Amino acid sequence: MIVADCHDKTVSDELFETVAQMRSTRSRATKKTGTVHLFAGLVYCSNCQMAMNKTGAKGHEYLVCKTYFYAGEEHCTRKRSINFRVLEDIVLTVIQAQIGLVADLQSMIEEINERPEISKQSLRINQLLEDCQREFEKETHLLDVSYRDWKNGDISKEQYQRIREETEKKLEQMRATLQTLAAEQLKAAKGIQANNEYFERFLKYQNVEALDRFMLVELISRIYIDEDKSVKVEFNFSDQYLLIMDFVQENMLEQDKPLKLTLERK
Ligand SMILES: [Zn+2]
Repeated sequence: MIVADCHDKTVSDELFETVAQMRSTRSRATKKTGTVHLFAGLVYCSNCQMAMNKTGAKGHEYLVCKTYFYAGEEHCTRKRSINFRVLEDIVLTVIQAQIGLVADLQSMIEEINERPEISKQSLRINQLLEDCQREFEKETHLLDVSYRDWKNGDISKEQYQRIREETEKKLEQMRATLQTLAAEQLKAAKGIQANNEYFERFLKYQNVEALDRFMLVELISRIYIDEDKSVKVEFNFSDQYLLIMDFVQENMLEQDKPLKLTLERK
């Protein structure tokens, strides 16, 4: 990019500043630690998946695809370059929106967990498991009894075989029920609490009005810039986010179902 301006007899102020800025950025990045720019290592070109570099004069900084920056137009284009300040505004808005969503999810979890049927859910499952186990033992005992009856000559071999077939069918069904109930019990025990660390991670930034490096690194895994300058933000802890969404959707009341649409993952 410097080469293009070499035909000029005087180096423009802007170019001079650009070079100075590049030098200072380079020295800052190598000599000192922790003085990297706000988005360092977080912003990627959606076309070639390479990181984007900060460049430009002070006050007019922008991020440009590294491939384009070093290898030129034939490898990737300049189209995804984005003004630094513009990106700051967009990312701040996206983070604020995400925090708003997380706050909504937290109050939904609180509401869900306050419902008596939720707190009683695991008790109910435990009761069903006990009942089913008792029934299973009873049927097994009956099978033993009918075997003895056949051996004692109280019932015929055919009668015993019919009882055995029927009982084994029942036992098979009960085994399946026991398995399902055990899985439900596990799920109920793993229910999401409103003090889940996921909420804490986001909600401590609830009133944030400016970006800072620590917050970005903690909350965001990657930011992608598209050709039309649209910005896609991928947040950290997405596994926990999905778990919470699943829990909310599973426990949503019928009249709240339309909310599901607004809770789609970004
Ligand atoms: Zn690229």
